[in-house]
Amino acid sequence: MMITSVRLARGVRLRRETFGAIAYVSERDHFYALDHAHVDALRKGGTPEMAAAGICESDLPQRAFYGRSQFGSFPEGLPAVSLPLVVNCFATADCPLRCTYCHADDLMTGYRDRDDPSWPDEVIRVARATPAMVGVVTGGEPLSRPDNAERLIRALTRDKAVVLDTSGMGDLGRLTPVLRECGVHVRISLDSSDRDVNDRLRPINRRYLPLGASSHRSAWEALHLARAESLSCSAQTVVTAQNGSYAQLLALRDDLVAAGVRTWTLHVVVAAGKAAHRPRGLLTGDDAVQTLVRVVDDTAAAALPIDIRVTSTHRAPNSTLLISARGELAVQRGDGTGKDVLPVSRFAARSGVMRHFRRRIDQAGHASRYLNGTLDLSVRV
Ligand code: SF4
Repeated sequence: MMITSVRLARGVRLRRETFGAIAYVSERDHFYALDHAHVDALRKGGTPEMAAAGICESDLPQRAFYGRSQFGSFPEGLPAVSLPLVVNCFATADCPLRCTYCHADDLMTGYRDRDDPSWPDEVIRVARATPAMVGVVTGGEPLSRPDNAERLIRALTRDKAVVLDTSGMGDLGRLTPVLRECGVHVRISLDSSDRDVNDRLRPINRRYLPLGASSHRSAWEALHLARAESLSCSAQTVVTAQNGSYAQLLALRDDLVAAGVRTWTLHVVVAAGKAAHRPRGLLTGDDAVQTLVRVVDDTAAAALPIDIRVTSTHRAPNSTLLISARGELAVQRGDGTGKDVLPVSRFAARSGVMRHFRRRIDQAGHASRYLNGTLDLSVRV
């Protein structure tokens, strides 16, 4: 149930949970878990810390939280949530890139040549039946089919906060009016400050793009456009053995801070999709999370103005809810052997979605993915 009787900051969604509530701050693309005491405090106007996190209305300035995602006491660790936090919705199975680790590769191959105009309606139907707080418009590359992306954004925004997940490869400017109108957060993929490293991890597909096109350049153009248009935006990075050293991550972080980007999401590469074949030199070692903790600590020590969020799909591959370009639910199997693709019937669609969510999604992993469980940052502020 949504809580409506508090003065939330613009673009914030709040959902009641048995442990208190979950708040989602769209501007920062960040979830927070609140215990009952903090929900009560919010009813009375909130605390300075919640204002600084962007949850409640205040004249106080916001500040970076370096991964903090909990307000209050959670003695048993990160709480499980009753309903999905996020559903990822494919606008298309097309993509002009060939990322070496593409998690969605198995939901693109076999779909991209059979694109059907009725598919977006199915994606919308299943997304509307999914009681998530946030709908991510993704793919494939949504900018490959801006018409589909716009339809999804307009439909999802009726009951969800919306994120556009993009490489920037395409005409982001065409979507700017609807992104602004619907308060969409734009999350742009960028893997390295070094163009060569980035473009090796995220090469172009010559079927779609001319020689010389660069995913590094398109990501930066999209970030600059989003900032110039005052859209909420952030960067996301897939951490692999090729871009995940401490020095490489600090260099990228410093570029983002200098460009005014205030949220950075990091995903440790998962052995799923294309990376399931474990290409040599791609997967990280056991020390990847330690490196990320050092990056967060360094950022906090320097009080740099950037939130860092680390997902945890590498620990629980079956923690993400996807809707394919054809409108099926898709869930990665826990053992990393591929995705289960599940049609959702028109009859009792919501119960069907929730049955799959409860049976197939790692509930703790789902909450941990979006609440920074990887870093166990409950002691950091
Ligand atoms: S941009 Fe996304 S969908 Fe396209 S190849 Fe890269 S990871 Fe896959």
